[in-house]
Amino acid sequence: MTTTEARSFNSLLAAGRVLIADGATGTNYQTMGMEPGLAPEEWLFEAPERVVELHRAFIAAGADIVLTCTFGATPLRLTEGPLAGRTREVNLRAAELARQGAGSDRLVAGSLGPTGQLIEPYGLLSRETAVAAYAEQAQALHEGGVDLLVVETIFAVEEAVWAVEGVQSASDLPLVVSFSFDMGTRTMMGLRATDAVEAVIPLGVAAVGTNCGRSLADADLVVTEILAAAGDVPVWVKPNAGVPKIVGAEVVYEAGPEMLAEHAARYVDQGVRIVGGCCGSTPAHVAAIAAALGR
Ligand SMILES: [Zn+2]
Repeated sequence: MTTTEARSFNSLLAAGRVLIADGATGTNYQTMGMEPGLAPEEWLFEAPERVVELHRAFIAAGADIVLTCTFGATPLRLTEGPLAGRTREVNLRAAELARQGAGSDRLVAGSLGPTGQLIEPYGLLSRETAVAAYAEQAQALHEGGVDLLVVETIFAVEEAVWAVEGVQSASDLPLVVSFSFDMGTRTMMGLRATDAVEAVIPLGVAAVGTNCGRSLADADLVVTEILAAAGDVPVWVKPNAGVPKIVGAEVVYEAGPEMLAEHAARYVDQGVRIVGGCCGSTPAHVAAIAAALGR
């Protein structure tokens, strides 16, 4: 296989491969010493060697896909912090560091998180501003050389649809849309998994799924629902390492590597095509997933 074929998300899925995605960004940076209150994107400039180090650790653990450190890097989200107005630079740099960590034969996925604004009439987010924001971020990630784009941790169906519109206006890369059902089997906006999946599949997405969320028990229910609604469209799942608990001065996630891997392996048995972890999942969690999948 040529490098390009080896790095095609769609070709790998069409060939029947199950792909392992990486684990968390933010919670691992905290463990690695990121100061509380800092946005992970600030580490792209303040600690680029640590950003590459985490990507490398996930690849060494068996990840086929690493996500860029750009979850908070839509221009709308960046306006709240010290990187305001630097969308292009932030996303280009994140893509570059992810490629350094992933090497030339693993996939780099450009991460696009929520704008952080509530949609009209609850807040100020309109279709026009959302589409423009996602287009600007997607364009920079595409230019930075990512292999696919992932709109993730989405709560509102409107924002998902607008994000897809914005991304597709700027890039023809494969696009994954992933929702966070953090109220259990619904998002905080009350959206159900079936309705979320049915809203984005007709838009021509490469995969649909869920990340973050609440407990693994909830994720089990959501995954079953998504698989039923997704039909032939590949399903992407990156759950948290269970529920976080405060132990002394630390936040500890209840699911260790074995427990997360057990759930991930079951999801693959059910038909999920891409598995990884979200908050609280470390390279050890990804290594356990790889082992559970017989890698
Ligand atoms: Zn998460």
